Amino acid sequence: MIPAETVELIHQTAVIEDVVGEYVELKKQGSSFRGLSPFTNEKTPSFYVVPSKGIFKCFSSGKGGSLMTFVMEVEKVSYPEALKIVARKYNIEIVEKERTAEEIQAETARESLGAVVSWAQKWFTEQLETEKGKAIGLGYFQSRGFRDDIIEKFKVGYCPDGWDVMSKAAVAAGYKEERLEESGLCKKKQNGDLFDFFHGRVMFPIRDVTGRVIGFGGRTLQTDKKIAKYFNSPESPLYDKSKALYGIHLAKNAITKEDSCFLVEGYTDVMAMHQSGVENVVASSGTALTVGQIALIRRFTKNVTVLFDGDVAGMRASLRGIDLLLKEGMKVKVVTFPDGDDPDSYSKKVSSTELQEFVKEGAQDFLTFKSDLLSEGAGDDPIKKAELVKSLVDTIACIPDPIQRTVYVQAIAARLQLQEKLLHSEVSKKVATDIAKEQKRANRHLLPQQDYIPPAHLMSVPQVGAKRLRTERLLLEDNLVRLLLEHGEAILKIETQNEGEKPVEVDVTFAELLIHRVETQSIKMEDPSTDFILSKFTSSLDAGEIPSTEAFFTGTSEDVQKKAADMLVSRYSLSENWEERHHIFSVKEEDDLEKALSASTIRIHLHDSQRNIDLILDQLETGECSEEEEQRLLREKIALDKKVMELSKVLKIVILPK
Ligand code: ATP
Ligand code: MN
Repeated sequence: MIPAETVELIHQTAVIEDVVGEYVELKKQGSSFRGLSPFTNEKTPSFYVVPSKGIFKCFSSGKGGSLMTFVMEVEKVSYPEALKIVARKYNIEIVEKERTAEEIQAETARESLGAVVSWAQKWFTEQLETEKGKAIGLGYFQSRGFRDDIIEKFKVGYCPDGWDVMSKAAVAAGYKEERLEESGLCKKKQNGDLFDFFHGRVMFPIRDVTGRVIGFGGRTLQTDKKIAKYFNSPESPLYDKSKALYGIHLAKNAITKEDSCFLVEGYTDVMAMHQSGVENVVASSGTALTVGQIALIRRFTKNVTVLFDGDVAGMRASLRGIDLLLKEGMKVKVVTFPDGDDPDSYSKKVSSTELQEFVKEGAQDFLTFKSDLLSEGAGDDPIKKAELVKSLVDTIACIPDPIQRTVYVQAIAARLQLQEKLLHSEVSKKVATDIAKEQKRANRHLLPQQDYIPPAHLMSVPQVGAKRLRTERLLLEDNLVRLLLEHGEAILKIETQNEGEKPVEVDVTFAELLIHRVETQSIKMEDPSTDFILSKFTSSLDAGEIPSTEAFFTGTSEDVQKKAADMLVSRYSLSENWEERHHIFSVKEEDDLEKALSASTIRIHLHDSQRNIDLILDQLETGECSEEEEQRLLREKIALDKKVMELSKVLKIVILPK
């Protein structure tokens, strides 16, 4: 148990933005900090830290709380373990009181596994000081040219070549057999004895972002090709391979500082780069990059430079992984090494300055690189050239930012002498089908469609005439916003007439017409996010432009983002079966935008009138009105009834097909 005084000291010492800053790249914004949520893969920062209140709030996951809640959430640990993590950061020593049996029981698997592997890391490193370990283990690292400070920095080690030297030491140190097995460090022979999984290998401890050991890579010292060069720890509650990056804890500060991250393949590549003075580097450890790993990098930077070993076959194979980086919103560059070299071997051939210059100045934009690499192989073969274009279209379509996509379309079209328009339309098609596919996939995991539930803050507003559901009004507003977002840029011909002049035909955007209608008919939005989107359009149009979709995803509330996202997704999914759709209503809506708009506003008026009638009926029912008041209400009701009739008539005319 951690003594109360120590708990108190930890709380007093810890600074929330410093601790959170280890996980999230925070930018100061007034009196708070803002960054990308570590809990989701969001690309627009909606994660806040408010130092004055000592709290964090993550709008994309809904999580929020104190510094310790944050550590518990992000590290998936219990409260005591969170305290320990924070204490370690501030060098606060924890002298634990003796634990009760219950407390030991309550220790989570993660925590006890963590204890095993961190013990093992120290033990493997200590072996480098034994006679054999020095000759074999340390000797190996030195023979590969690693300096002592680098060997020390990465805390590499050696697992002796007996069958069970480590297992015996671990059991003697009090670690349970089950835990040792679970950690992957030990395996059981048929007779039930433990043996060392990594025996005879040099050891690379793999750490999480806070520097805690979570697993190991072990390299054989034999040159026999039949023996796997590397073994890795199996996955465990502690070691999730899809979220681990070798070297991240040593790289994170440099990544933030440089605002870029080098991505290499191997453990030794990371070490070699450090030895040459490049510290913003991590390794995917030879496996294909995962979304989780990319999310980890994105906490610190959006810029990744991939360092490729120099063989063309390998490079082609790696191209796919890069599409994933682009999809996750990263900016990607590549550096290729001379044939046969990886960063480690190359670093041994040149000086540190030369290596630094090579990776910084040799970095090439990824798409340029890909188009050059593929066109070299395609030559003048038209089929191969078509494949090349398709492959480039697929990659460009991965880029989430439409402006960036356009820039690439222009660059690639020029480079390959293609028609820009053609390339552009291919990319747009691919984007639309990708989004539709994703939508379908997402839908499959959704629960049965629920009625639209308004945000909590709206639910709490007391409603008069609640018979007519508030949700109905919100759906009608949604329809208006959808029209605006889907068709805002469409150009309509409108006839206008100034007093005493001849009517003239002018071109206006649909957005202008819609905003004009809403304003002149005094339609008020009741949903704040709908209201926000409309007012954004109004102010943009005043400035002579239609807002980009980005405008709704940066610096806006989650509700606005959710609404805009819903609407925009529906826009893309509608365009999927474009040809089939030509026969159904969505295209008709586009042909007859003015009618769609009228129908939409009339429906809102109709709804409001009916709601007012309900309200009047409610009041009349209470029987508390004076006679005079009753008369007034009845007259009002008759007027409203008439309005409803008229609106319904118009609506029928509007919505009936021609
Ligand atoms: P070295 O320089 O020590 O020979 P390397 O890093 O150049 O190693 P590669 O063959 O390029 O080795 O492999 C890159 C990475 O892939 C390794 O660092 C390791 O993480 C992983 N790896 C390689 N071989 C295996 C294997 N047989 N099993 C699991 N992972 C492996
Ligand atoms: Mn190598």
